[in-house]
Amino acid sequence: MLSAWKAASCCSGRSNQGTSKMTQPTPRSSGNLWPNDSRFGRRDFLKLGLGSAATAFLPGIAAASGRYDAVVVGAGLAGLHAAMLLEEQGLNVITLEGRDRIGGRVYTLMDVPGKPEAAGEFIGANYARMINAARRLNVDLVEPNPLAPSSGWYYRIRGTNIMPDEWPDHELNPLSGDDREILPNRLLFTLSHRNNPLSGRPLDDWIRPEFRKYDIPQDRYLREHVGLNDETIRLMNVVLHTDHMSNTSALHECRRYAVGEFNRSVALAQPDKPRSLQVKGGNSLLPLAMANSLKNGVLTNKTVYAFEDRGNEVMVRCADGTTYRARQVVCSMPYPVMRRVKFWPRLPESFARAVDQIDYGISIQVHFLIKRKYWEDDGLPSNIWSDAPFERFAALARGENGEPTSAIAFINGDEAYKYDLMTDKEVADYTLRELIKVRPAIEGALEPIVVQSCHRDVHGAGDWVFWRPGQVTEFASRMREPHGNIHFCGEHTALMERGMEGAFESGERAALDLLLRG
Ligand SMILES: Cc1cc2nc3c(=O)[nH]c(=O)nc-3n(C[C@H](O)[C@H](O)[C@H](O)COP(=O)(O)OP(=O)(O)OC[C@H]3O[C@@H](n4cnc5c(N)ncnc54)[C@H](O)[C@@H]3O)c2cc1C
Repeated sequence: MLSAWKAASCCSGRSNQGTSKMTQPTPRSSGNLWPNDSRFGRRDFLKLGLGSAATAFLPGIAAASGRYDAVVVGAGLAGLHAAMLLEEQGLNVITLEGRDRIGGRVYTLMDVPGKPEAAGEFIGANYARMINAARRLNVDLVEPNPLAPSSGWYYRIRGTNIMPDEWPDHELNPLSGDDREILPNRLLFTLSHRNNPLSGRPLDDWIRPEFRKYDIPQDRYLREHVGLNDETIRLMNVVLHTDHMSNTSALHECRRYAVGEFNRSVALAQPDKPRSLQVKGGNSLLPLAMANSLKNGVLTNKTVYAFEDRGNEVMVRCADGTTYRARQVVCSMPYPVMRRVKFWPRLPESFARAVDQIDYGISIQVHFLIKRKYWEDDGLPSNIWSDAPFERFAALARGENGEPTSAIAFINGDEAYKYDLMTDKEVADYTLRELIKVRPAIEGALEPIVVQSCHRDVHGAGDWVFWRPGQVTEFASRMREPHGNIHFCGEHTALMERGMEGAFESGERAALDLLLRG
């Protein structure tokens, strides 16, 4: 049951989950097999009604103090995929997860009407590894409901409401010629494909030396190579998933759109299949099924704070005082988390610099209960794309018949940093105030129920990795190198794919490296 937003539950600001709400949709850990150990297993699965979606969970018998062939740190898609592959090859593997839930940046808000995805959302047609994992674990994939009806948007730019059909001739439209037809929310996507030097190239070409000349600020690139003016760039920046174009490598963005283009080409080659997919019942069900398939399960609430590589084994130390020993380790922590983790021996200088400097684009979401259909009061489309502080606001149409289920304000990039200085309650109040300012009909129509972000907790770093100007040249080729007996994975280390499939790709590479080491 959802209950009203209460100050007491959220004034503390950052939470362990990066989510603040009255009810916790994440499954709680089941039995305590050892002191301080929470093992995620079959009972948790059955509580969620997911028993049939996975093989039976059989608690392993390896003791916390025992030695494993491999310790995997992090139960996001990268870590879970690595753990499954290693187990398939007969290794005794234990997976440690710092949070009290499985899935990392795959996180379905099960308690919010319509079960919106708070993180990894669309499974591309080219996500071969991810689709295969779902198939093997009997997790159903379905065509996603659209986020919100596309007809349901209007624009709020520089304090002015603009309807989609007004945009081509509107005085605030900064484009010329046919480009004036491109709607504001499509500018970044459409114009980033233009003159993309990585278009049609092999997916790993972005690290080749001949493309380093594009490892420059994205705004400069858009001015010089695409011929865009400052106002167009400002509007594109609203939805940029980094922090700011001046601080983003154009090569990163070119890669992002080249991977997207590849995704679409795979989808076009299979016209009878959906262009993207989601897990039926919520994407979180896939990492849960993966965790459940592991012989030793996943130990939750295991925040790793130190690795000590003794040559013949690695000691993995957790904040709860336990230590796990293994011949080799796979670490899937995002870099901003790794910055606070001790490595002995220390990471080599160049690697440590990458860990210190590489960042993730951040976002913050405020989810609302819809108490009244505000759009019926003012006659405007339900959703707003804007350069106002709430950036994008939509009534999510995730009901069975496409009816609105909840609403979301989604703020990312540059603007999201401001929210970092607020508690979750302040975020919710401020966002609602700003929405009402722009749209008075919203007053009394919405109730904030969840504030969610993938970086507002100690285990999170942000949404997706991004590269600042010069960082592809300096770091991109070396991020997949092991450090002694520690192998690294995670979406940020993927060479070909991005997002969830990038996480799978990286987990596979790390598992193979570990197996080759023997
Ligand atoms: C809002 C949003 C929308 C997105 N949309 C899409 C999309 O539509 N399509 C797509 O493909 N991708 C999308 N992504 C990206 C995708 O979700 C991620 O790239 C992917 O899930 C990353 O997986 P990972 O295993 O590399 O990292 P994570 O999922 O972050 O896993 C790392 C794990 O390590 C754990 N951990 C961290 N520190 C410690 C520690 N010290 N000790 C123990 N455990 C620790 C974390 O809790 C986490 O579980 C989106 C992400 C966000 C946030």
